[in-house]
Amino acid sequence: MASNCIFCRIAGGEIPSAAVYEDEYFKAIMDIAPAAKGHILILPKKHSDNLLELDSESAARLLAVAQKIAKAQMEELKCDGINLLQNNGEAAGQTVNHFHIHLIPRYKSDQVKISWQQGAYADGEAAGLAEKIAKRIN
Ligand code: AMP
Ligand code: ZN
Repeated sequence: MASNCIFCRIAGGEIPSAAVYEDEYFKAIMDIAPAAKGHILILPKKHSDNLLELDSESAARLLAVAQKIAKAQMEELKCDGINLLQNNGEAAGQTVNHFHIHLIPRYKSDQVKISWQQGAYADGEAAGLAEKIAKRIN
């Protein structure tokens, strides 16, 4: 555990939190400043700064946990949808450098903003970039 990492301290139980789920690998808690009521964060117990460093065991198990929690949110909150959001790096909006996933309940007429302006590719540009990225996937 990184003693100066707030999410390590929460995941390890050193700092109390409103937890909704816990197993050997994860703790899921209510976000302290929610985008909407019922906004949940899933924290791996093992510290990693971000997705790039996440251990393979946590990575493999993560989506199953997210699915369980999202189902419980849908049932309890009667929301119309859920955003699964995960920020990596300051440029991407990450403010706490311990990997976490946001599960944000959404309603048809809510004011939550998770949006971007749609860009465009020149002819062949997407395919060219896809090829370059594909070569780096291992
Ligand atoms: P991000 O911007 O993706 O790094 O998200 C960090 C999230 O952590 C924000 O939504 C904060 O509201 C939330 N947060 C920060 N400190 C705490 C805390 N002590 N307990 C619960 N949520 C927290
Ligand atoms: Zn940590």
